Amino acid sequence: MQRLFSYPVMEELSDQMGRPLHDLRISVTDRCNMRCDYCMPAEVFDANHQFMHRNELLTFEEINSVVESLVPLGIKKIRLTGGEPLLRRDIENLIQMLSKHPVEIAMTTNGLLFRGRGKKLQNAGLNRVTFSLDSLDPIVFEKITGTSGERLQSILDSIDEAIECGLGQVRINSVIRRGVNEQDIDRLIEQFAHLPVSLRFIEFMDVGNHNGWRYNDVIPSSEIRAYLRKSFNLTPINSTQRGEVARRWSVEGGNGFEIGFISSVTQPFCGDCTRARISAEGKLYTCLFTTNGTDLKSILRNKTNENDVQNIISEIWSMRNDRYSEIRNKSPKPGTISLPKIEMSYIGG
Ligand code: SAM
Ligand code: SF4
Ligand code: SF4
Repeated sequence: MQRLFSYPVMEELSDQMGRPLHDLRISVTDRCNMRCDYCMPAEVFDANHQFMHRNELLTFEEINSVVESLVPLGIKKIRLTGGEPLLRRDIENLIQMLSKHPVEIAMTTNGLLFRGRGKKLQNAGLNRVTFSLDSLDPIVFEKITGTSGERLQSILDSIDEAIECGLGQVRINSVIRRGVNEQDIDRLIEQFAHLPVSLRFIEFMDVGNHNGWRYNDVIPSSEIRAYLRKSFNLTPINSTQRGEVARRWSVEGGNGFEIGFISSVTQPFCGDCTRARISAEGKLYTCLFTTNGTDLKSILRNKTNENDVQNIISEIWSMRNDRYSEIRNKSPKPGTISLPKIEMSYIGG
């Protein structure tokens, strides 16, 4: 894989809280082949739901152009997400285009369309992959995702394939909710503990407007950790880079297996948030919880000045002071802030 390094060196961007812009998450489609009840509930995202038309989505050339503008500003990592990124036709072509930049390329996927594509994605330039998997019980899986439990095996095969390909340290993300899938904490560990993967438990977040989020349904990471400590010897792993969202722990006896916790609700990490997001229709968001995005697509399509995107993002990032999760936690009753929000499938997880 060839990376070209021919970018002007600019002073690193910093926002109002001293946070650099290191990560870019790109939602390549608002469509998904699952209907997770906490993300795209089937009763809302039904046959009448208006998904975006193809020409409303950013083209691969437009995405590549945004990335090209951002590399001199300090971007180091790109994550392709969605909706389901593997639904975007010829996604390998986009990865190939992006692989010319000096950035790490990762993808978050539900794994349904991954099997048999690992090598092709890797050869195109994909460096790492994260799978989302909330349950190993076919009935619970189906209840959460609206997808037949019979498809579970294909996701597990995909995870094996990604490990075999050497697609980074493969990660598995699991949202554990009270009264829904607590039993999966044990099942997931049993399934993956012998593999060199990072199993990450994510707190259920109040993103979107339709998932009926309640603070009481969130299982704090500390609770899961206390539970695990009864059976495992966990040792904290120091984070290696700024902006790492998961706190990681190694497990005695695990051969490269580690457990991570993404505690966005109970231990917000806004102070270290180095992520910008681009929605499927090409709007820039500087926080998962902001409602106002900046329309990059019009700027790209008007082709006024090729430096416009870079200048605008630079200006927006310099003004940024987002810290929604910290503010939510400081409210007298956490979880009671209820502003309209963007859907996760639209802005990308
Ligand atoms: N479809 C892909 C997948 O599921 O991996 C990529 C997009 S999905 C929006 C990205 C991640 O967001 C998934 O790991 C999902 O579990 C997570 N997610 C979605 N809604 C969430 C919520 N309300 N709280 C916590 N995580 C959420
Ligand atoms: Fe689809 Fe991912 Fe959202 Fe589930 S979490 S509905 S797989 S976008
Ligand atoms: Fe970043 Fe916003 Fe999440 Fe805080 S709430 S970590 S600023 S995305």
